[in-house]
Amino acid sequence: MTGDHKPRIESLRVLMRPEHRLSRADIDPDALKILYRLQKHGFIAYLCGGAVRDLLLGRTPKDFDIVTDARPGQIKKGFANVYIIGRRFRLAHIHFPGRKIIEVATFRRDLESDEDPATPEVNVPGILFGTPCEDAFRRDVTINALYYDDRTGEIIDYVGGIEDLEKKRVRIIGDPGLRFKEDPVRIWRVLRYAARLGFEIEEKTAQAIPEFASLLGGCAASRLYEELNKELVGPTTSTLDALRSFGLLRYIIGGFGEEFENDDDLFGRILTLMDIKDRALSEGFEPTREETYALLFWPWAESIFAGEAGDLHTVLDKAFESARTQAVFPRKMRMDIIQILIIVAQMRKALRTGRMRWSLKKRAQFEPASRILFLIERGSAPAKGESFESLLRQRAPALEDAAGSAVKRRRRRPRKNHPRPSNQGGGSDS
Ligand code: ATP
Ligand code: MG
Repeated sequence: MTGDHKPRIESLRVLMRPEHRLSRADIDPDALKILYRLQKHGFIAYLCGGAVRDLLLGRTPKDFDIVTDARPGQIKKGFANVYIIGRRFRLAHIHFPGRKIIEVATFRRDLESDEDPATPEVNVPGILFGTPCEDAFRRDVTINALYYDDRTGEIIDYVGGIEDLEKKRVRIIGDPGLRFKEDPVRIWRVLRYAARLGFEIEEKTAQAIPEFASLLGGCAASRLYEELNKELVGPTTSTLDALRSFGLLRYIIGGFGEEFENDDDLFGRILTLMDIKDRALSEGFEPTREETYALLFWPWAESIFAGEAGDLHTVLDKAFESARTQAVFPRKMRMDIIQILIIVAQMRKALRTGRMRWSLKKRAQFEPASRILFLIERGSAPAKGESFESLLRQRAPALEDAAGSAVKRRRRRPRKNHPRPSNQGGGSDS
């Protein structure tokens, strides 16, 4: 690890219970149980990361991460339903009912610049465990490196995060250039926190962004995909806009990113949809990953559909291929996104014409496509009980009746005398 970025215990600042707004009552009861159990067994255990940052700002955290000096094996012994995950860092995921997962990490540190990563005593067993102070210094930005000790009610700050929260500032811990070189994803994360929280980016951190931005393109595809997933589950609009203004989208989603950066109209339509999604999220809408990606790619797919004849599945699959996204989507995910996009196109056509091939309802992606359709067509998520059919009835009542009878008429024809052309991928009637 690096020059001015050596962990310094003397930089410690502690906010006592009455000096801040975070209280135990704000913390998820299951996270409190984990903290309590670890502490009862003699371990240090703090709430950390985004939860402390968000609660100090009076915001609702997305999740509650815990950090402890218990080793992964010790955590595993202490709880039922623990899964140890990750090759690079072994983290404990504790599962609770309702698909809730609380992540428990062991304090760790970065490698010193003069340390040999192959030295067994340094690197046992592939992870560098550390002290709370070292763990704070290996984090990305100061506002993400605060700890909350629920027993004392204290906020523990080794890196100046409290001051940066007060000054509404995003600052990389240590030398920005070195930390960006170590992990270029941090550039993206800096932009995200500034955009989401409405904070400014501290001067040195901001200066280093254009210089090191292109390193993002060299990140592992799986890291970029993982970070993109994090991006889309929260509010996306403002970060997407910031990534575009720094020309970073091309390094994340390749050819898509270039198109999004070069085409103002296309990007405007994407931002409109992301804004609709962000508002729906804040009202409790929980889209799946596939649905969110389909929404992100809808304006792009729509322009492709408009200019292309032929089988839509093949057309979109080829377009996806040639866009060369850096963040590589698993094949199944890509197939599902494409299916959703095609069904949405067919549903939109049905809304205009009243002609709908109801066999579409049998497709696995029919329901996801209907949910996305509401966001695209109406600008809000479907309410309970609303379906594509109800939207069709509202939009085109007369047409829908006509469509119903048209379908019936067609069915009555004896098929063997009127062979119909095969309809691969279900694309040709959109
Ligand atoms: P969110 O509200 O989006 O979950 P978060 O701050 O909790 O925000 P996570 O991606 O969940 O972000 O990461 C948890 C914590 O891990 C961060 O707060 C930060 O301290 C640390 N962290 C995450 N990514 C990095 C990174 N690339 N480099 C250093 N530290 C990181
Ligand atoms: Mg988090």
